[in-house]
Amino acid sequence: MKLYLASGNAHKAAELQALADAGPAGPGGRIEIISARAGGGMPAVVEDAGTYLGNARKKAQALHERLPAGAWALADDSGLEVEALGGAPGVESAYFAGPQGDSAANLRKLVAVMRAVPPERRGARFVCVLVLAGPGGAEHVFEGSCTGRLLVEPRGGAGFGYDPLLVPDGHTETFAELGDAVKNTLSHRARAWAKLAAWAARS
Ligand code: IMP
Repeated sequence: MKLYLASGNAHKAAELQALADAGPAGPGGRIEIISARAGGGMPAVVEDAGTYLGNARKKAQALHERLPAGAWALADDSGLEVEALGGAPGVESAYFAGPQGDSAANLRKLVAVMRAVPPERRGARFVCVLVLAGPGGAEHVFEGSCTGRLLVEPRGGAGFGYDPLLVPDGHTETFAELGDAVKNTLSHRARAWAKLAAWAARS
């Protein structure tokens, strides 16, 4: 099964392909993540729906319209929800420090706004919503989340985005220290993917 990915985020594409490769091949064979570029290019989409699902649906549908008949588009919308910030940055995670979508600046801003927050109020969770858009208006939605706590200073060089600040529950290292192999067993994206893979295996 081929899924065209409605994203220009190379990290997301690599994580999703690694997740696909780690699972058993379903009746439709191995799941292959194909870049939007190979499907005619990712159209510009304004991510203003206000929810992960709404944004993911917009991205999946925009790419699906460009794809050959019978093809499926996959979109990921995700974010970090911080308890002490009332769930922010949430759906705005990519733009926390401004519309330019600078992930290093976003991380610096999170470090700054969380600096004085005590350990017992540093809970946070990553959330991922995956949307598949397919033939005849078919849509399937899969969600996953991963709770943890935020450090005061970033640690580690793997992953992307806010990975250097979040220590997932049950661990003592950040996602950026644990690396992709561990992240892909317990992340929000891995948990949403497991549901998608189970659906693909039944279909
Ligand atoms: P999106 O591309 O609009 O879904 O934005 C997602 C944003 O959430 C990214 O730019 C990151 O800032 C953050 N994010 C989502 N997933 C992860 C992850 O796995 N690790 C670290 N940051 C993430």
